[in-house]
Parts: sequence; C-alpha cells; structure tokens
Amino acid sequence: MTIPGPISPPPRLLMGPGPIGAYPSVLEAMSAPLVGQYDPFMTATMTETQELYRGVWATTNDATLLIDGTSRAGIEAAIVSLVRPGDRVLVPIFGRFGHLLAEIAERALAEVHTIEVPWGQVFPVSAIEEAIVRVQPTLLALVQGDTSTTMNQPLDEIGALCERHGVLFYSDATASLGGNAFEADAWGLDAATAGLQKCLGGPSGSSPITLSPRAVEVVQARKKIEAGIREPGDPSARDFVRSNYFDLGMILDYWGPRRLNHHTEATSMLYAARECARVLLLEGRDAVIERHRIAGTAMLAGVQGLGLTVFGDIAHKMNNVVAVEIPEGVPGDIARAALLEEDGIEIGTSFGPLHGRVWRIGTMGYNAREDAVMTTLAALEALLRRFGAAVPVGGGVEAARDVYRSA
Ligand SMILES: *Cc1c(COP(=O)(O)O)cnc(C)c1O
Repeated sequence: MTIPGPISPPPRLLMGPGPIGAYPSVLEAMSAPLVGQYDPFMTATMTETQELYRGVWATTNDATLLIDGTSRAGIEAAIVSLVRPGDRVLVPIFGRFGHLLAEIAERALAEVHTIEVPWGQVFPVSAIEEAIVRVQPTLLALVQGDTSTTMNQPLDEIGALCERHGVLFYSDATASLGGNAFEADAWGLDAATAGLQKCLGGPSGSSPITLSPRAVEVVQARKKIEAGIREPGDPSARDFVRSNYFDLGMILDYWGPRRLNHHTEATSMLYAARECARVLLLEGRDAVIERHRIAGTAMLAGVQGLGLTVFGDIAHKMNNVVAVEIPEGVPGDIARAALLEEDGIEIGTSFGPLHGRVWRIGTMGYNAREDAVMTTLAALEALLRRFGAAVPVGGGVEAARDVYRSA
C-alpha cells in the first residue's frame, strides 16, 4: 500500500448547525505535550478546568466536570446515573434531541412519558406544569436549544416548577451554551450537559456537565446500594447504574479529592475544554452571548434580505442557528455540495419532518464573526442565483451589514 501523507484537511468555513471551526487557540492547546494521569500538573489542570466551567455554567456546583466523549456521553451519564429502572421520566419533545433524551431514558429502563409540540415551536410553561402534575416524574429531561428546529426552550421558570413538585430538572444545553443565556443556579438546574462543538468553539469529544447538590445526593445514594450488594442475583442489583463508564458516582470520585482511578481522563480533550472555557470567560460570558446575538441577527436579516423564508417561531429562535426554506426548484443537497466544494463553506441539511425542506445555517463560537457572516451570505446569493432562484442583488450582505452598523 502507499502510505498516505500527514493529515491535511481542506480549508473550510463551517457555518452549519455544528460542528463548527474551533478557535485557533483551542487547536494549539490540543497540541500541548501530554503528562501522566496523576501528574500534579494534570490533576491541577482538572481542578482548574472545573472552576472555569463553574463560570461557564453560572454555578457554584462542586460537581462540575467533564465527561469524556461527545455531547451524548454527558447526556447518557446524567440520565443513567439519575434514573433508576422503573422511575418515571418526563421528556417534552420539540425536536430531534428530545427523542434522543427519551430513547436514552428508555434504555435506562425508565418509564418514559413524552409530550410534544410541532417542530418550530417551544412549550409554554403551563404545558410542562400540567404534564408534571399528571405524570409525577422523578426527572424532567428537557433540551434547551434543539438544533434540529433552531428553537430555544425558555428554562428560567422550569427549575422553580420542578422544585415545587419535587422533580429533578436536567437540561441538554449542547447547542445553546455559550451563545444564549444559561444560568444553572439561578434557573434551578439539577443537571446540565453540553459539548464543545457548538457555541463553545472546540472539537467534539468532551462533554461539560454540572450537578446540583441534590443530584449528587441521588448519585451517591445509588453508590451505597452498589457497595451493599455482595451476592450475584441480589434483587437490589436492579438499582445499579446501568453503565460503568457513565457512572457519575465513580466519575465524581475520580474528579474529587480522592482521585479514585476510573478512566484515564482524555488529556488533549481536557486541554481543549479548558481553552474553550478560558476563551469564553476572557471575552466575558455576556459579551460572547451578545456576539452570538448580533451574528445571529445579522444572518437572519441576511437570509431574509435574500428573500428566503425562515422556518419556525423566530421569537424563540436560538441566537446561533437559523433554518431557511429551500426555494422552489433549487436542489437542496446538490446546491449544498456545490457550496462546500467550490466555496469551502458548509451549511447544514435537516432531519425528520424538515428533511429536504430547509437548510440550517449556524453562526457559533469562533465563527460568530462579521466576516464569516458576510462571506457566507455572499456565497449563498451567488449559489441561489446559479440554481435559478431570483434573489435581490446584494440583498443579503446589505441587510447583515446594517445589523452590524447599528450594533
Ligand atoms: C448537537 C447536539 C448534540 C450532539 O451530540 P453529540 O454526541 O456531540 O453528537 C446533542 N444535543 C443537542 C441538543 C445538540 O444540538
């Protein structure tokens, strides 16, 4: 065989719903030398990263750490560790990732109850309250931003609601964290998870998680059950966390002061996650959200300036992604492929009921930038015209520029 040359990816501007291009300093951090698992530098870096993520999540939770794996590793760790077989779990579904939470809860042998709104909408608090009263779940699992529909479910009143009804509150904030407001403590979250490859501006492969003291109690109680089981076939064994890798009780012991060996923390991903949080806090949490808001507003104005129809309830759209209907007669996948091949720009396709109907365009993390917005809109205009759509000349870039001028 011919041995291929060193890895050499083509230049790309990733303007889809994620993954997106990482901050250059994150890529640099990932090439830093490795140290041993219990090197004082390693454990100090873990501790430091925990503190940085308390800033990102807006929490004082001790149990703030990373799960090794992509975002769904964090989701799985939260759900399998908080849910015992037979527990009732309520999952309000407003897009693809709600279905994922429900599926993972099913695998954890929960009794799963779902409620749904049509894609492109979010739940009113009253609908969630009604379902909580009816189902009486032990856990509410709710996506914050669902990239499949671009919607951002308001969470600010949900924590108090869960508290009143004695329900644990978990949210998957993968798509939204860093680009939209998220207040783990002020909003009463018991557990929240994310990934790096959306607004945090890193590669996929590490999942930040935070757990309230109440969630930690649930996790620790299960550890005691496991410790008490001696005989195979002991009926209490059904309460076991259904995973070793994602057993938060064990993972907390590894990240905590006892440093009990579990997995080997993924060193280069730890460096990446640390740098993502460092970059965010250095710029300022509010300033980064505002940068996403402006980039998102500019992209929204731009696609509307091109005469495209935006999908969903714009008032509840995430800052960092917009879905546009593919104009009549334009071959969605062929046009998207041309944009990638000729301009090096990636935008997203869609799933489920939206498949073939909309493209999703993201402005996140490192790419929530004016030049990235302008380049994408200019290329999109040329692309649409080439595939026969009537678009106003300069309509996209002009509208987006106006947003930046008045920002
Ligand atoms: C993108 C996204 C994920 C991605 O999960 P991965 O395991 O990192 O691919 C999960 N949840 C939501 C809400 C997302 O938008």
